[in-house]
Amino acid sequence: MDANRADADRRRPAAGAASVHSKPTVAGRVRLLPGRERPLRAGNPWLFSQAIAAVEPPGLAAGDLVEVSDAAGLLLGFGHYNPTTTIAVRLFCRSGNPANFAELVEDRLARALAARRALVRDDTDCYRLVNAEADGLAGVIVDRYADVAVVQFLTAGADRMRELVVNALTRLIAPRAVLERSRGAVRREEGLDDRQALLAGEELEEVVVRENGLTLCVAVRRGQKTGYFLDQRENRALFAGLARNARVLDCFCYAGGFTLAALAGGARSVTAVDSSALALSWAQRNLALNAYSAQAATLVRARAERFLAESGESFELVVLDPPPLARSRSARRSAARLYTELNRLALARLAPYGLLMTFSCSTHVAGDDFVHAVAEAQAQSGRYARLLRRLGPAPDHPVLLGHPEGQYLTGLLLAATD
Ligand code: SAH
Repeated sequence: MDANRADADRRRPAAGAASVHSKPTVAGRVRLLPGRERPLRAGNPWLFSQAIAAVEPPGLAAGDLVEVSDAAGLLLGFGHYNPTTTIAVRLFCRSGNPANFAELVEDRLARALAARRALVRDDTDCYRLVNAEADGLAGVIVDRYADVAVVQFLTAGADRMRELVVNALTRLIAPRAVLERSRGAVRREEGLDDRQALLAGEELEEVVVRENGLTLCVAVRRGQKTGYFLDQRENRALFAGLARNARVLDCFCYAGGFTLAALAGGARSVTAVDSSALALSWAQRNLALNAYSAQAATLVRARAERFLAESGESFELVVLDPPPLARSRSARRSAARLYTELNRLALARLAPYGLLMTFSCSTHVAGDDFVHAVAEAQAQSGRYARLLRRLGPAPDHPVLLGHPEGQYLTGLLLAATD
């Protein structure tokens, strides 16, 4: 549990940066071109710059709060503006007056918390508490790991909510620590640098949590994203239920979420593959935390494509959960081919009537595009499959109906026909 020295110089004192304003006022107005309010009315919170007729006053800054109206001047709502991005406004509220912005933010957090309390099982104390637009807090992610909150402010508008979010979290769940890990392509597009900082509470490296009754140690400072992939929780539970007596392969295992689920479900053997030595060390530690011996699973450091191509073994249950293979819209075609190739290799490893749980977490290869990419793999591998179930993220990762851009995780549970 050494302190991560590389990050030490990036630590900042608690919230309160100068740009944070707790009482933002509406800084300007955005009026749309005729008819361009339709997507907003249909439920999409994003307003693209081509839809805009006029912005007043000139010189509004990224993150300013604006009032949005249709061409006739009818109020549509309030949102955060960015003059430099193609998503010009992210709608924050459709009605009402955002004059008491702090109250609005706290109310949204309270509602998000109440929803999670209803949705998340008692044997789990880690979940996504706020999923950006779908929780009425565009650009804000809050992942809860027991008594620790890891937050991301991904847009210029979200970046200004830092202090409000931390204050509201403190009042609602009194976390031991609030850690910020804001990074990635969206922030760069919004003109923001990566930011990692302790915003409140004590310095810590790791947190022990419970997921589906299993114990996990989450590296909240050094792990990927906010430390763990909470979106797969319900798919891991489903996986556990399929694992009895199976020889299981967990490709892209990270800290061993699916591996632990398979062992808990009574797998005969588990092989877990990841290219990261650090991820495998976390998987190893998580096995030990659940009293599994070091031999309970075979952890393999390898590129999954290579392992699949070279392993002569077959498995009754395989999971493929790769990192996003399409980082941009333009990379979509080539990414679809990568998914086809990966799934071709995985289908070839399935025992007769074996099961494959396969995922894409690329927004650009989601839904039916992913189904097509995987279907293509059957013809190439000569292994045909039945679709048992389409999968998605757990319901603590909601998306707004009318906002397909918010969907990113698509999964398929397939059964080989023979
Ligand atoms: N299944 C995991 C999450 C996977 S995240 C879970 O349930 O939590 C993606 C993982 O893929 C990361 O751990 C990363 O280290 C690993 N990775 C990236 N490229 C890889 C490759 N080519 N082969 C194997 N692992 C890879």
